[in-house]
Amino acid sequence: MLRLFLIFSTLFLSLSKMPVFAGQLDGDRLCATAQAAYLKYRNLDSGENANYIKALQAVDPKTFGISIVTADGRICEFGDYNAAVSIQSVSKVFTLALLMREKGPNFVEETIGVQPTGMPFNSVLAIENQQGSPSNPYVNAGAISTVSWLTPQNEPELWKAIKENMDSFAGKKLAVNTDVLQSEMEDNKRNLGIATLLDSYGKLGTTPLDAVTAYTKQCSVNVTSHDLAVMGSVLANDGLHPITHKQILKSDYVPHILSSMVMSGVYDNSGSWFYETGVPAKSGVGGGFIAIIPGKMSIGVISPPLDQFGNSVRAQRAVSYIINQLNLNPYAN
Ligand code: GLU
Repeated sequence: MLRLFLIFSTLFLSLSKMPVFAGQLDGDRLCATAQAAYLKYRNLDSGENANYIKALQAVDPKTFGISIVTADGRICEFGDYNAAVSIQSVSKVFTLALLMREKGPNFVEETIGVQPTGMPFNSVLAIENQQGSPSNPYVNAGAISTVSWLTPQNEPELWKAIKENMDSFAGKKLAVNTDVLQSEMEDNKRNLGIATLLDSYGKLGTTPLDAVTAYTKQCSVNVTSHDLAVMGSVLANDGLHPITHKQILKSDYVPHILSSMVMSGVYDNSGSWFYETGVPAKSGVGGGFIAIIPGKMSIGVISPPLDQFGNSVRAQRAVSYIINQLNLNPYAN
């Protein structure tokens, strides 16, 4: 019955940009609030596309899509929810989940770390300050290190495992943005430098080139706000995919993933974000953003213009609005 509903929902959505949602959790109100957030912020003209990766500069800054997927698989979405951007750092959440599945949470804490750096996401100084520790999975050092400790020992196999894992969260085969990949591969000296420094401390599981290549491919996967919300909904639903019904991640691991997002998910704005919303989130420099309301829903947004920290401006405003309007902060009674 639910499947039938989703099929008709998708059909309906492809014909119009009207919301699809019904049933419990005051669905009409949730959908109306998401629509209000979309209308309120769609003309907000603040922030700039990332420009240190040339292909990201070329993405239409007006692109703005909001999708919500509830923990029981219902969907509500507005705007450009079919438009894709490269996933960039949001991918780090899902590859962390893969490493945790393979090696467990203790390995992650001991090998990658779970501490915020208080420094930019691509800082070399942060590695030096911690005697070679990458600090956490969401700075580039930690994400490259995460990739390097996966089970496969060569780049093609690493990439295959990473991609299959991302596809399992999305419930479909995601495509690679070849323009972004090429652009980033051509200008990847800093990430190679980071990986080489980690390797010099004995903190990398593969060669720097293999780890950085697989990591860069991971970042260049295209996602829509719909894909992001679906991927996040697995985390909102204790690791059980609400649409494919597969157990993607052990439920015991989900709190570790969500806590890591709280600590460092939205770069150096993580403290303020959590102070204002009380929910874990992860952003990427392509303009992708996910927020998880545990047990309830995932919100996926794409909108490329970023603030000074590297977070999508419209995404933060829209998600904050939805959370505050609907009292979704888990710390609010
Ligand atoms: N691929 C980007 C990089 O390595 C990801 C950065 C991000 O989204 O934080 O710089």
